[in-house]
Amino acid sequence: MYYQPEIETASREEILKIQNEKIVKQVRHVYDNVKYYRDLMDKKGVKPEDIKSVDDIKKLPFLTKADLRDAYPYGLLGTDLKNCVRIQSTSGTTGKRVVAFYTQKDIDLWEECCARAIVAVGGTNEDVCQVCYGYGLFTGGMGLNGGSHKVGCLTLPMSSGNTERQIQFMMDLNATILCCTPSYAAYIGESLAEAGYKPEDNKLKAGIFGAEPWTEEMRRSIEKSLGIKAYDIYGLTETSGPGVAFECEAQAGMHINEDHFYAEIIDPDTGEVLPEGEKGELVFTSLDKEAFPLLRYRTRDICVLTREKCSCGRTHVKMSKPMGRSDDMMIIRGVNVFPSQIETVLLNEKYPPNYQIVVDRVNNSDTLDIYVEITQELFSDKVSDTQAREKALEATMRTMLGIGPKVHLVPPKTITRSEGKAVRVIDKRKLHD
Ligand code: ADP
Ligand code: ZN
Repeated sequence: MYYQPEIETASREEILKIQNEKIVKQVRHVYDNVKYYRDLMDKKGVKPEDIKSVDDIKKLPFLTKADLRDAYPYGLLGTDLKNCVRIQSTSGTTGKRVVAFYTQKDIDLWEECCARAIVAVGGTNEDVCQVCYGYGLFTGGMGLNGGSHKVGCLTLPMSSGNTERQIQFMMDLNATILCCTPSYAAYIGESLAEAGYKPEDNKLKAGIFGAEPWTEEMRRSIEKSLGIKAYDIYGLTETSGPGVAFECEAQAGMHINEDHFYAEIIDPDTGEVLPEGEKGELVFTSLDKEAFPLLRYRTRDICVLTREKCSCGRTHVKMSKPMGRSDDMMIIRGVNVFPSQIETVLLNEKYPPNYQIVVDRVNNSDTLDIYVEITQELFSDKVSDTQAREKALEATMRTMLGIGPKVHLVPPKTITRSEGKAVRVIDKRKLHD
């Protein structure tokens, strides 16, 4: 099932034709209206006439988060403020917030992207869609809310938090689709079990989870605890919000809405465009945005693009799950470590997805401490049992990561649950710098 079948299953040639037409117009729009970017193009010696097709995009300068902060708040605005109807802002995971502007058309296209994601997981006007991403400045709630309306679902605009009420509405109003961060979905699953519900007691069939990295192990754990199929959705405020890419029934990578966003993978060190299938930093050019039309925006998300045929019939390019942002990667004693590697080990070893990673520097040497909550069943009063478990986990982690962490098993319910994006890593080294 598709929301916009013609475009979602268009041939490669048709998509390229649309992209080529749009990029010529969009570069002209940006050059004429966004002085900040015009200066960057002039500095690089590129004129709008030089961009005749998407092949020429590589000639354009990049934009980074630093540019967005420099240009805050109006520097990258592509139209008069009087044409804008809304702002949204990033969650500020990695520093100062970024503000993005929308015209009504920008919002319509964004909501259509979210509608595609909802229909891709089987959503129709007979569904009850519970949105527990935060509403407000954060794009998660507003985006999925708009998409759910477009599909015609009965929308429950819950926003995040108040888990008891989430559960009450989910059960009383027979929610069939759940939208939130994966860490909050795990928490809702845990809370349902505590309230005495079995996975088959709810009417949920699918979940649309994104806004933060999550592993395949986490997917299986959520699917089991809620009795649903769990699908990934990706996006960022800078390009609109969730719905830039979404998973289909194949659950193997997310289709990027290529009619609106042109994606490239680059080598993060050299900026060189990499061939399909190679891992690198994802870069987006928005082909339609009027108010906040970013060209070649570096997301810092590391992933792979593939054009392999998908069983769902969609033709748009797929991105792999981002394995974390390039700035999520921790360099510990010279070794690159991603939080996702740690999550994989924990869930494989049957620990719950409640953990926190603390990195510090003691006597000029990096330390890595992993606090892991144990389940009630694993909970034991015997110190020797706990120590043996900690040692076993440390050994498995050492093999996976290439460095040895210190594992601390902590009693159930001691690690703070997240209602939005989970804070998995505390890097205390930054405090000393
Ligand atoms: P912030 O940078 O403050 O978190 P946003 O709320 O706009 O701002 O979040 C966008 C970022 O969230 C993306 O660049 C990406 O790192 C992360 N993200 C969004 N969706 C996913 C997903 N499905 N998987 C992994 N990471 C995601
Ligand atoms: Zn597909």
